[in-house]
Amino acid sequence: MKKDIAFIDDIDIRGKRTLIRVDFNVPLDDRENITDDTRIRAVLPTINYALDEGAKVILASHLGRPQGERVPALSMAPVAKRLGRLLEKEVTLTPNCISEETKSLIMKMKPGDVALLENLRYHPEEEKNDEEFGRRLADLAEAYINDAFATAHRAHASNVAITKFLDKCGAGLLMKKELNYFSMAMENPRRPLVAIVGGKKVSDKVGVLLSLCEKADKLIIGGGMAITFLKAINYEVGKSFIDDTVLDACKSVIDKAKSRKMKLYLPVDFVVADKFDQAAETKVVTYQEIPKDWMALDIGPATVTLFSEAIQNAKTIIWNGPMGVFEMDAFSHGTFAMVSNIANSYALTIVGGGDTDVALHRAGEYAKMSYISTGGGAFLELLEGKNLPAISALRDCCKKINEKVTAC
Ligand code: AMP
Repeated sequence: MKKDIAFIDDIDIRGKRTLIRVDFNVPLDDRENITDDTRIRAVLPTINYALDEGAKVILASHLGRPQGERVPALSMAPVAKRLGRLLEKEVTLTPNCISEETKSLIMKMKPGDVALLENLRYHPEEEKNDEEFGRRLADLAEAYINDAFATAHRAHASNVAITKFLDKCGAGLLMKKELNYFSMAMENPRRPLVAIVGGKKVSDKVGVLLSLCEKADKLIIGGGMAITFLKAINYEVGKSFIDDTVLDACKSVIDKAKSRKMKLYLPVDFVVADKFDQAAETKVVTYQEIPKDWMALDIGPATVTLFSEAIQNAKTIIWNGPMGVFEMDAFSHGTFAMVSNIANSYALTIVGGGDTDVALHRAGEYAKMSYISTGGGAFLELLEGKNLPAISALRDCCKKINEKVTAC
């Protein structure tokens, strides 16, 4: 059967110089120590697979935002060191991505060797998806694997342009996992499918909400977003944060949910505070009673009960965004109560987004989720039903090969 995308295990990379685009954009402290190496660990299966195949592994990633300049504090050196320790083998850091010196180091590699290119974003051409830069990256390799799901929604030279210059192109094992879970949740879900969306900015998620209205059986809206929805239907929201550029869009989401007879849940009570401060005076009020000079910073206890009941019979749950200002203890109860309800459900649970991830770590419930996506923006764009440029590039590559031979 012909596939529309090739994966690393469909491609013969034995003994080949294999450039793997990874996401090693790890957090660093002010002494350039890696404070969380989850992103490095997430691609170890792909790197180990390539090493087991005897490939010459060339890794490429960006780190931070050097804006096309050589910023020493954003060197990949700490990543090379950590990766070397995790793989228990030497990882050679190249001086840059495309110089003659780098090329000659790469050409000397032996099967089983690992090299890490210096920060892709030291080169301004990377974010411009520059063809020539893509060609020069491709010149280093005989095969290309993309395992950087978190950047798949951006068209950059290392994930789009490069694919035009190599025949053997495919996705890595992390990307495969992301796409498989996404498909289980959105393309062919076990129902009821319940989507929970929180956070602050409705404008970033209108497309996602509209798309969820088509796919989900129930949509739960919490966090600051819910308050913008209340404002859109003319409730008093006091001094709460609202995104007032999207009030009409909120009404379209409500209309779409109604027209599809999909159940839409909004909070019925809130924890309100007299100021945006951990030490603020707080009280619980219903959604009709937010006082004029107060702000709603968390969902209330009746809402937690309502939302918990709404997910009780779910077979699939998708969750993005906190239920309140969970960074402050006083307003974290709603988010942590939802974490606990989701963690203890029998549904397939798929979670995405930086804040949601932080909340799961803080609650210690990380391991109880079926899958936590490594992509924030990419996860949302997939939910929205958009084509991700890096995935489209891999599809185009596969199509090209299918036209030449019988299978990708
Ligand atoms: P977003 O980037 O849109 O997912 O928003 C995440 C942020 O929303 C977190 O930093 C939360 O503190 C914030 N947030 C959640 N609920 C509220 C709220 N009711 N008022 C203000 N900020 C909120």
